Amino acid sequence: MTRYPIPPYVRRIMTALLEAGHEAYLVGGCVRDLLLETRPKDWDVATSAWPKEVMALFPRTVPTGARHGTVTVIMFGHPVEVTTFRTEWGYSDHRRPDQVKFTRSLKEDLTRRDLTVNAMAMTLEGQVIDYYGGRADLAGRLLRAVGRPEERFEEDALRMMRTVRFAAQLGFSVEDETFEACKKKAPLIEKVSRERIRDELSKMLLSDRPGYAMELLRITGLLEFIIPELLEGVGCLQNEHHKYPVWEHSLIALDAVPPRLELRLAALLHDIAKPRCLTVENGERHFYHHENVGADMAWDILRRLRFDNHTVETVTHLIRQHMALHYQPDMTDSAVRRLIRRVGLEYIGDLIELRRADREASGLKEGPVSRGTRKLLRRIEKVLEEDAAFGLKDLVVNGHDVMEKAGIGPGPAVGEILNYLLEQVLENPELNERETLLKMIEEKAREMGL
Ligand code: ATP
Ligand code: MG
Repeated sequence: MTRYPIPPYVRRIMTALLEAGHEAYLVGGCVRDLLLETRPKDWDVATSAWPKEVMALFPRTVPTGARHGTVTVIMFGHPVEVTTFRTEWGYSDHRRPDQVKFTRSLKEDLTRRDLTVNAMAMTLEGQVIDYYGGRADLAGRLLRAVGRPEERFEEDALRMMRTVRFAAQLGFSVEDETFEACKKKAPLIEKVSRERIRDELSKMLLSDRPGYAMELLRITGLLEFIIPELLEGVGCLQNEHHKYPVWEHSLIALDAVPPRLELRLAALLHDIAKPRCLTVENGERHFYHHENVGADMAWDILRRLRFDNHTVETVTHLIRQHMALHYQPDMTDSAVRRLIRRVGLEYIGDLIELRRADREASGLKEGPVSRGTRKLLRRIEKVLEEDAAFGLKDLVVNGHDVMEKAGIGPGPAVGEILNYLLEQVLENPELNERETLLKMIEEKAREMGL
């Protein structure tokens, strides 16, 4: 029947519902995935039983969203969402139904679902119930709204983002009428909470086709309401180092980094400020400081989209440093140490990925990373092996030593002296010896008039 058998814990739940005289079907994403012969991420069961009937039938249940008809049944240790057939109506806020009503009709339940490929049900025996042509659309690799697309997007504007997300995850096209409806209703996306937009955007970025998703967001008009800054890069020509305008370049870079959210966001936004930083001197195009301006812009964008602090900080740091791993043949060891200190050892791996993608997306250079980057990596490794000092915590003296030697209390002067010592040690690692540094503290304190 299908490549992935229905697991025993799901079968058990469906059988129990059927034996009690109710209807029970697999619905939504798992049916779609089974028919595509991919492994379902989770198994959703829909039933004609009311939530309290479901709860009465199984010893271990959690009323996850009982008001919306969802009960989580724990079977053999696995949680499974069992949802009562329901209809929804009156979406006056373009986000969620004013009312839901439970129904005993599977067909009514399938009608409320967003896309035909998501609106199929399957029996325990593998028989597919398909009122809206979902199977034909799977075969044609098409995403089509159930019913009238404009109405469906008006009811819940997030469905437009979901459509783009599934296009990217499945590699499907968007059917014409559904696409046109999306274009027309795009401004309604502003009614949806930023958190829900963020979650869909994150799934798109982590899919196999993030660049395709972003292009769909652009041509439907959704991007204008999500990250309008990116549109400035459309048609923004670069210079002899680049074959593509900023927008295309960003999408190729996006596709070229591994699927980790921070890296994908950094790749998407790494050149966000190039259009604003463009200057032309003697016919040459420059983008001075675009990494710093870009990090600031990315900060605003990611905060606006309600990304958490850690993500915002990591992504903006990667953008700010995305030009830093440039190798200069005359770099001294201490210059390499300062570089490591500036970009942070833990970010070097990501920055290399970003450079590799940036280079690939230039459309002009071959090979995974440049010879310069490889040389720089070897130098970094060498310096690391020498176990030199990289941060204040690696100095063999600490704040207490400074206070004692300089005869001062806590305050900014302590940090100033420690930083001075670190600068010296980065230039010359041999200085990182207790006696030497204690002497330097005395000297520096005198110099500062303490
Ligand atoms: P995934 O594999 O990402 O979980 P999924 O299709 O299971 O994909 P869910 O978000 O888990 O997606 O939703 C489960 C089902 O509920 C969908 O297949 C769809 O039938 C329905 N659904 C979810 N969100 C909406 C919505 N906003 N509007 C209409 N139907 C929806
Ligand atoms: Mg799901």
